[in-house]
Amino acid sequence: MPTTKDSESRKLLRRLQAVMAESAEGQERLDRIVRMVAESMTTEVCSVYLHRDETTLELCATHGLNATAVHVTRMRVGEGLVGRVARLRAPVNTADAPGTPGFRYMPETGEEVFSSFLGVPVQRLGERLGVLVVQSREAREFSDDEVYALEVVAMVLAEMAELGAFVGEGEALRPRHQQQALFRGVSGQEGAAEGIVHLHDPRVVVTRMVSDDPESELARLRNAIDALRVSVDQMLTDASGDSAQEEVIEAFRMFAYSRSWLRRMEEDIDAGLTAEAAVEKEQTAARARMRNADPYLRDRLADLDDLSNRLLRMLTGQGREGGALPDGAVLVARNIGPGELLEYGRSLKGVVLEEGAVGSHAAIVARAWAIPLVLQARGITTEALSGDPILVDGDQGIAHLRPDDMVRSAFQEKLAMAAQAQRRYASIRDTDCVSADGHRIELMMNAGLMADLPSLAGSGAEGVGLFRTELQFLTRNQIPKRGELATLYARVMDAAGGKPVTFRTLDIGSDKVLPYMKAEDEPNPALGWRAIRVGLDKRGIMRMQLQALLRAADGRPLTVMFPFIAQLEEFLAARGHLLREVHREKSLGHTLPETLRVGAMLETPSMAFSPRRFFEEADFISIGGNDLKQFFFAADRENERVRRRYDTLNVSFLSLIEQIVNRCAETDTPVSFCGEDAGRPVEALCFAAMGLRCLSMRPASIGPVKHILLRSNLAEVRQVIEDARESGEQTVRPAVMAYLRTR
Ligand code: PEP
Ligand code: MG
Repeated sequence: MPTTKDSESRKLLRRLQAVMAESAEGQERLDRIVRMVAESMTTEVCSVYLHRDETTLELCATHGLNATAVHVTRMRVGEGLVGRVARLRAPVNTADAPGTPGFRYMPETGEEVFSSFLGVPVQRLGERLGVLVVQSREAREFSDDEVYALEVVAMVLAEMAELGAFVGEGEALRPRHQQQALFRGVSGQEGAAEGIVHLHDPRVVVTRMVSDDPESELARLRNAIDALRVSVDQMLTDASGDSAQEEVIEAFRMFAYSRSWLRRMEEDIDAGLTAEAAVEKEQTAARARMRNADPYLRDRLADLDDLSNRLLRMLTGQGREGGALPDGAVLVARNIGPGELLEYGRSLKGVVLEEGAVGSHAAIVARAWAIPLVLQARGITTEALSGDPILVDGDQGIAHLRPDDMVRSAFQEKLAMAAQAQRRYASIRDTDCVSADGHRIELMMNAGLMADLPSLAGSGAEGVGLFRTELQFLTRNQIPKRGELATLYARVMDAAGGKPVTFRTLDIGSDKVLPYMKAEDEPNPALGWRAIRVGLDKRGIMRMQLQALLRAADGRPLTVMFPFIAQLEEFLAARGHLLREVHREKSLGHTLPETLRVGAMLETPSMAFSPRRFFEEADFISIGGNDLKQFFFAADRENERVRRRYDTLNVSFLSLIEQIVNRCAETDTPVSFCGEDAGRPVEALCFAAMGLRCLSMRPASIGPVKHILLRSNLAEVRQVIEDARESGEQTVRPAVMAYLRTR
């Protein structure tokens, strides 16, 4: 590595800076750069290959190969030595290129006469942009100093490419962040929206790459490192007493104080880079290593990535975007928790996540707001910039970034059709939901925020079948007070205007982590300390919430249900707490609810087989299908890899539903279904056919579900299900769909 003042890389960078400063357009600028690099490194050839798409590289400029091959020669990632550099994301340095395994002869380039080959990846933060190559006739290996110098040039090229410095002919020369791009993901919530990207965690753009003043850059880097260390030390102080957190931050702190990390960045500055470019160079190298690392090392490298981002923000003054959301904001993020999403509020027009799972609570929030949600849109956070136009197609699970006019107008047609469907649903809003063969189905809505309540009138729901009280706890930075909760619950009842509201007590744990409660490090949080298990152990919180509910009712009817009951005892214990609070309120002279209904959520298969007494004791049962299904199939609702393997209309799951309906019928216990599947028309129809008479769903689903139920004959659907079941089908979906098509 170079440490001398006038190292190869510094000389090269100085020349590169001079070329960049000349007035020239895209192709010409690239041509001058390759010429300059070849001359500086005394090689016969220097070429730049840029990605045309994910898998194809295109020769975009060359000095020394046949000029006619430019924009003609292409190769796939992994193909030939250039493709190998791209695949490995690491340099290939050989004195005998034609004799190196993988060498591919490209007649149009005339390259067979060159013996030595050095190729380095052009990449930025793990994103492959291209390959920079030098070749010479003389058979020699390039020195470490030369490899390093070429890497530094490649890094500056990557930044320049990103900033649009090479716009010109050839698709590959268009800057990445100006091309339109399509992302195919998974649908998290249907609907379509046209809007403007708002990045949750925008990447820092480094515009100053090269510096002639290493002393001042070193000082900037050291100051930023000092500030970083102070902030990490503070994190450790804040976490004191919480051993699990301390452990994590301690590992984080080790990197902040790492001498080798600092030394590498100092060397980069010495080689001619600015402080921020040096941070980014090491971050890019760490990301490249991350791909092949084992899980432990990957976590450590992720720490380094996080620290690098902090340093970059300090050095460039670019922070997370705060302030007001732009009009028509579509949130683009790698992943997001329900609390963070709630903080954005429902003015978002759509959400696109690079990761995310359909069963997660962030997805449930997006669904409650009825905003289109696309999950697993791989690569979107590196491709999108805040302010980019975006079209979100939640039905197909697609996002179009920077769409051209043709895509935009097709999309607008789709929006018009969706609006038409909405008008159709509005026309049946006040119609009773009675199937074609005369069965009345009660359609309720799920809610969790005050802001959801206006949908009660708009959707035509008959009440709130599930009010998720934890959303109030997730949006704050401390536990809400009893008085605040009582006021809020009273406002919910007021807004419901006499329609029933079923309040579910606090359901935290699993993916719903309260920011102010010590996170438990559990091997399987979905099977761990959550929901009623927390409630029964942390009685103070449960009692406070029950008191708030009783006070909010203030003489009105009150309906409460307990989540995640896995055995009768839990229900009896939870109800016992509620009844004790009723008694206490009475002794304090407070007004009691006019009526009190106490139900249980059936979310574990165990309860379908529980003693008869459970069904007798519960005033009602609500099937929490999201959890019930994940436990029935042992398939994590948040893990996209397994979640979709098992169809809700699988005969085993429908038989479980039938079992629950029958058990409830034996004791005349009202039963409803409030998981997400209740809002899917075909699933809702099959549930109704299995005997469920109350379904609770997100408000936007009420129209489509009612539309299908009004036109369907439940007895006929039941027969179709029975036939499919008897003929040994795994799922009844194809049979039901075929039946629907004939109607
Ligand atoms: C369910 O599990 O189906 C349910 C309604 O509860 P949640 O999605 O909040 O876990
Ligand atoms: Mg649940």
